[in-house]
Amino acid sequence: MKIYKFNITLLVLLFVFVYTPLSWAGLNVITTTSDLASIAKEVGGSLIKVNSLVKGIQDAHFIQPKPSYIVKMNRADLLIYQGLELEVGWLPVLIEGSRNPEVRLGQRGHLDISTNISRLEVVQGTVDRSMGDIHPFGNPHYNLDPENGFIIAQSIFNKLVELDPENKGEYESNLSVFKQKLKKKISQWEKKMEPFRGAKIITYHRVWSYFAKKFGLTIVNTVEVKPGVPPTTKHLAHLTALMKHEKIDLIIQAVFYEPDFANMVADKTGAKVLTLPAFVGGYPEAQDYFSLFDTIIDNLTSNLQPSS
Ligand SMILES: [Zn+2]
Repeated sequence: MKIYKFNITLLVLLFVFVYTPLSWAGLNVITTTSDLASIAKEVGGSLIKVNSLVKGIQDAHFIQPKPSYIVKMNRADLLIYQGLELEVGWLPVLIEGSRNPEVRLGQRGHLDISTNISRLEVVQGTVDRSMGDIHPFGNPHYNLDPENGFIIAQSIFNKLVELDPENKGEYESNLSVFKQKLKKKISQWEKKMEPFRGAKIITYHRVWSYFAKKFGLTIVNTVEVKPGVPPTTKHLAHLTALMKHEKIDLIIQAVFYEPDFANMVADKTGAKVLTLPAFVGGYPEAQDYFSLFDTIIDNLTSNLQPSS
């Protein structure tokens, strides 16, 4: 263990020495997810450099941190993450390994966005991890309600002003532009989704809960038994019967899940499996927080049946 730690430290120092540009005077920001990176770019503009650790095609619950992540974390002035245990499997180790006191819990360079979010699906009572639930403190996929984009942007703004008060004016103006654009886009998205209000769907993982609540879709069940727990044969049989009975013909799942289980159910029910991006970069055209929703909603509205 000691040898491992020594090697990591050496590696960090080596990379930092070789790669740290001396000319950059702005803030170095690291985000876990690409949605947070996209919004941070909008608010920080040219005053910050933003790097996202997780790609939109990856499952943020389970990633393998690379040595380069430790280097990025070591140089960061600010770490922004979604929280609610989305990144619990890998982020604490990364923070510890980075030897950067600024980004530790309780320090100025540590921002857990979830503390400002109204959570869905908070588990009541004692959390029993033997049940395999990977959303023990509520659903962490709040980035998929665009209304939460306002809260994310505001939280990032507050932190950037705290770290860099001299540039408050520029951050304020960036925040205002972002909020105006988001407000306009949300009303467009609401209009597009309106004919499908009340439509029943099945999802693979509970990635879509916030999105469904915002746009009035009903998630009747999930292909997983519980968040993070693959389906049993019994559950798949139950799901098949349920979908036939309720006449549900659409299963949606994020790009980073294996489609096998959903396809099995689709084969038996005649339903369609629609794979969607759940984060910026999940599809090539979902390049930022706005085009992410454009992409999701364009694909959904082409596949949902309008409610009568
Ligand atoms: Zn999840």
